[in-house]
Amino acid sequence: MEMKTKPASGQGAQHGVRQITVLGSTGSVGCSTLDLIRRAPDAYRIQALTANRNLDLLIKQAFEFKPGLAVIADDSLYSDLKEGLAGSGVRAASGAGGLIEAATRPADWVMAAIVGVAGLAPTLAAAERGVTLALANKECLVCAGELMLSKVARHGATLLPVDSEHNAVFQVFDFEQSEKVEKIILTASGGPFREMELAAMKDVIPAQAVAHPNWDMGAKISVDSATMMNKGLELIEAFYLFPVREDQIEILVHPQSVVHSLVSYVDGSVLAQLGTPDMRTPISFTLGWPERMAAPTPSLDLEKIGSLTFETPDFERFPALKLARDALKSSGAAPTILNAANEIAVCAFLADEIGFMDITRIVAETLDKMPSGDPASIDEVGAYDQEARQLSQDFVEKAANL
Ligand code: NDP
Repeated sequence: MEMKTKPASGQGAQHGVRQITVLGSTGSVGCSTLDLIRRAPDAYRIQALTANRNLDLLIKQAFEFKPGLAVIADDSLYSDLKEGLAGSGVRAASGAGGLIEAATRPADWVMAAIVGVAGLAPTLAAAERGVTLALANKECLVCAGELMLSKVARHGATLLPVDSEHNAVFQVFDFEQSEKVEKIILTASGGPFREMELAAMKDVIPAQAVAHPNWDMGAKISVDSATMMNKGLELIEAFYLFPVREDQIEILVHPQSVVHSLVSYVDGSVLAQLGTPDMRTPISFTLGWPERMAAPTPSLDLEKIGSLTFETPDFERFPALKLARDALKSSGAAPTILNAANEIAVCAFLADEIGFMDITRIVAETLDKMPSGDPASIDEVGAYDQEARQLSQDFVEKAANL
């Protein structure tokens, strides 16, 4: 695997005004990224901002940050965007083509913060420009890990993990002595239903699932945290980012979300990164990289927190963890299928069409029914993704009609 090495420290170095593009600027990670940029406006020039349907926020951001281009993914909103941008000097674009145009503007740092596989094509397009790629969108790596890493390597892009756990591992992983790493321990908050009885979980409603105890995040990742599929996706993400085997990656529940992950070495040393749960810390790490920059995150007050606790995950109540590990072990198209089915099922749950426990059941049924080959190109990944979406949509309809 080509990209499991630490990027050279010369890459990504800041020279003068930094040219920035934020893919998914209206989301939780996108807004946190712009919050950091807002605090040092002279240091950055925004090339492009993108949204899916949140027209009002995109227009507001465009007037504030004056990007060269603002893109709304939903084509039907193009005229509204154009009208809304009148007088701003910002050009409007829409649709898949607009997202690619945003990704290929002359930025040197691109935040990939579109949610789901919708972010794959623009993220790959940015990688092809050899940019420093701050990767929040874990679904890209899950569904097209090897292909994405080889593209990053081929085009000399620098991949920096934004996900707090992977950013933590990145900070403490000794890439020079990776053979001395015994294991990576990804921490998991356990989500809002960590202590809920299995019987009660079937009655969970979307409003409960999106109310994460520690992190303020978008709806999809919040539901993934509630099912713990998020940690499953992160297991696959970690496998692609770091030079370790699947059986060297463990998951540990840590309800306070203070220890963001750990790396254990053969000499018994365990290195961890700690911090207040605030995405502006990992984002700032990638924005400043290879230097550290100040972030407005509240300082960690361990005295006030008092105790940090750790638990083994409950695989019975959170079957997504095993599904994701099995998909990683099977490799090939299995992670693509897992991700696609999960996106469809989470969307159906958020729309009140299926129950909470149906989510992982539908993912399991889709994985069971779909033959898993070995996609050799992004187009083939796309074909598996589409087929898995169709199949899981059938399972959603069946569950909705019960
Ligand atoms: P949000 O749902 O808050 O934001 C998603 C962004 O993507 C929005 O800008 C949204 O636009 C845009 N978007 C949604 N669908 C499409 C589409 N089909 N085409 C183009 N753009 C689209 O998500 P988060 O910010 O929470 O998460 C973003 C990514 O980062 C996810 O992959 C998530 O797993 C990952 N991540 C998030 C963390 C967090 O703390 N939030 C932590 C670690 C990783 P619009 O606003 O118009 O809907």
